[in-house]
Amino acid sequence: MMNARDSRLRSGQVMIFMVLLLVILCLVVLWSFDVHKILFVKTKARNAGDAAAVAAARWQGISLNLIGELNVLKAVSIAEALSRGETNFVEAAEMTDLQSRLSFVGPMIGFAAAQQAAKNNGIYANEQFSAELLGHASTVELEYPERYPVQPYENTPSPPTAWDDYAEMIMAVASEGVAVRAENAQLYRDYENWGHPLLNPDFYDAAASGNWCWFLFNALSLLETYSSWLDWPALPIIEEPEPTSSEYFGLGLTKVPMLDYIPLTRLSEAGGVEDILAALQLIGGVAISSETASVETDWFCYNPGRWRTWNETLPDGFPFLSDVKPEYDYAGADAAVRIETDNQRLSPGMGGDVIVWTAAAKPFGYLDGPVVPDYYGLVLPAFHEARLIPIDASSAPASGSQPGWGEHVYEHLEPYMAHGPPALDGSCWYCNVLLAWENAEYRQAGLDWLDLYSHTCTHPGGSGPGGGTRRGH
Ligand SMILES: [Zn+2]
Repeated sequence: MMNARDSRLRSGQVMIFMVLLLVILCLVVLWSFDVHKILFVKTKARNAGDAAAVAAARWQGISLNLIGELNVLKAVSIAEALSRGETNFVEAAEMTDLQSRLSFVGPMIGFAAAQQAAKNNGIYANEQFSAELLGHASTVELEYPERYPVQPYENTPSPPTAWDDYAEMIMAVASEGVAVRAENAQLYRDYENWGHPLLNPDFYDAAASGNWCWFLFNALSLLETYSSWLDWPALPIIEEPEPTSSEYFGLGLTKVPMLDYIPLTRLSEAGGVEDILAALQLIGGVAISSETASVETDWFCYNPGRWRTWNETLPDGFPFLSDVKPEYDYAGADAAVRIETDNQRLSPGMGGDVIVWTAAAKPFGYLDGPVVPDYYGLVLPAFHEARLIPIDASSAPASGSQPGWGEHVYEHLEPYMAHGPPALDGSCWYCNVLLAWENAEYRQAGLDWLDLYSHTCTHPGGSGPGGGTRRGH
């Protein structure tokens, strides 16, 4: 028989049970809401990142086409001036000025367009990205005039100098709020020299990640014979670059004073200056005399260090579904971006997540043939569209974005070469790699691994920008 006390106790227990159930239900609902929210934010970040990369790459293509058109116009104007017996090529000089400005303005518009594309897809500005860019704007303003006294172009009146213009463009993007970071920015200070391991970011990347296959193909004797820091070959003299393009989504171009001197990126393919003149004639639609090739002016060319075959820059065994078509087998200008966005969870005690998305895109096109856009070395209008590419097939550094390469090269290496490991900077990622490398057991582990598994290393891989597969989504 149930008395009143029992019944109260029962209903109390039911109450407790109901409350617990309710709490559990709430948690389940919140948790499932979190899951959906994370998926939603991820999809949003993905769409925004992809859109941003394509927007930036599209502007790289537009800039290259405009610079190429100006090369053609320049050839036409010089050929016509020569036929009139003139020796002064004022128009050509004006076109060079325009090309130099385009090399900065074009990619920077792409940078701004990338921000807009991300924001249109619902991504907010990232405070850290904005602060980083703002910091660089002031570095450009304060230090570049002294560090790079040769201005990329001359303003009249000056100031504002070309560096003032550039700093102002960076500032404009930064102050609007940076939603996407340029993952493959190449600061002028980011000096790389693949001839010396200490100046080759790939070495650090391989040593840090235990990518012994890289050593097998690129630096086996280093791994086998290295015994201490005293073994490093002397550092070469670092030459400051002559900046010709924006550091963000740059075009990888260089200027040469005569068509005769154009560095052919694919020497075996193009037949030299006659071929270039024929191509100019075809696109320009007028006869271009061979004397044009010996006139001194600035021609915008593809920098052979940057414009190489795409296959050469791909990481070991890169899983492309099919072979890259020959006319698309080039690497030079591409745009890689990173989005980092916070997602605050609703479930109590679960905190938040940082959703990261990286994406890359590249301007695609070809010249009549079809041949790659850089077939002649000279920039010619060739780009038709921008498409997404796998981030690992882009020029973004494999180590993601390890900060401090510039400081490492300019400030840490010299003391290290003079005094060894004690002179390394403990807060620098690259210095810490060198510390680990100094450990003989670590290097021996690499040699042991290669003894057993070197047959699994398949692709000789390229040493140079890009390469490596350490970045995930
Ligand atoms: Zn360092």
